[in-house]
Amino acid sequence: MNDILIQNTTAFFEKSFGSVPQKVVLSPGRINIIGEHIDYNDGYVLPAAIDKIICFAFEKNNTNSSKIIAIDLNEAFEIDLTAEILLSEEVWTNYIRGVIKQLQDNGFVFEGFNCVFSSNIPVGSGLSSSAALECGMIFGIASLFDLKIKKADIALLGQKAEHWVGINCGIMDQFSSVHGLENKVIKLDCNTLDFEYHNADFKDYALILFDSNVKHSLFTSEYNTRRQECEQGLAIVKHHFPQIKSFRDCTEEQLLTLQHQMSATIFKRAHFVVKEIDRVEKACEALDQGNITLLGQLLFEAHYGLSQEYEVSCKELDMLVNTAKTDDFIVGSRLMGGGFGGCTINFIKKGHENEVKNKFSNLYLNTFGIELKFYDVTISNGTRLLL
Ligand code: ADP
Ligand code: MG
Repeated sequence: MNDILIQNTTAFFEKSFGSVPQKVVLSPGRINIIGEHIDYNDGYVLPAAIDKIICFAFEKNNTNSSKIIAIDLNEAFEIDLTAEILLSEEVWTNYIRGVIKQLQDNGFVFEGFNCVFSSNIPVGSGLSSSAALECGMIFGIASLFDLKIKKADIALLGQKAEHWVGINCGIMDQFSSVHGLENKVIKLDCNTLDFEYHNADFKDYALILFDSNVKHSLFTSEYNTRRQECEQGLAIVKHHFPQIKSFRDCTEEQLLTLQHQMSATIFKRAHFVVKEIDRVEKACEALDQGNITLLGQLLFEAHYGLSQEYEVSCKELDMLVNTAKTDDFIVGSRLMGGGFGGCTINFIKKGHENEVKNKFSNLYLNTFGIELKFYDVTISNGTRLLL
């Protein structure tokens, strides 16, 4: 599938600019196995880059302006690199403006370029097409103009670009897009950005995402509320246990001693965070032992916490996970991403994928009148040069 995308992108480039590209860059979307809502709580997450990518073709154009074409939107824009960079009403261009601005503001010197890009990462489904876009652009500009930018800095520049666009994201998405490795998950410490790879051999199980095709508008307001609730909970923990700096240092036992010092809501949020950080550690052990049944169990537990304690699920996602729990061929399932819609991540016994997909799409359509989409994913390399 990626071969066709690459061919189409380079052919479009040749048709548009009359030359073959000097650089071709592939930049992946990402999944997160477990550790949800944990990046801003300074704990551990377990993401990986996937085989859904954005393909970019680049050339220098020996001017001071750049022309960029988004094939999928059939739109193009030109940007004068010597002028002040401002936000535009065409949202997609802002990710690119943001990246160029961050590079310039951080002292990187480059000239005009032509670029076309096209993608097979579903947009807005929680696979982080935005991070793939930012990291791929930075990587492409760096390759074209021989700028020496470390992977971790590409991720940080991409995150800053997204903040400039107006989305207050953590570092996980950009970090996993650039640091991804085939068949490895990344255990990332969101506080220090230290990371280690663990083998992602899922044995007899295929990794399949179910896209609920819903996006409830609660997302932004509830996200901000959760951040505040976690801060309040942590303040109480710190008050009683001054040695604790963040939830990762707090045991469940310590938290339980404070249950009556907190409102029921704050306690539930804090309890989820403490347990979810613990589940990431356990998930790494399960992967190291090749125990996918245990990994799957942790995913179900994570979903229960996200739904009942952190309260970021919705009826569509709960139905998908609850049905998965009783399915003979699904060993683990949970909502992935911020919640209130988007995808669930599922481990499905190989050989039974179609059977499971048919069952779930019929059930989902009958219950909600909405079509369920499926993405088969494999764990792949991070942002890279093809040419
Ligand atoms: P996601 O979960 O996919 O990252 P976001 O809302 O954060 O969802 O980012 C999606 C935005 O990124 C799109 O609205 C668009 O502006 C930009 N984008 C992603 N992929 C493409 C693409 N192939 N072409 C143009 N813009 C894209
Ligand atoms: Mg995004």
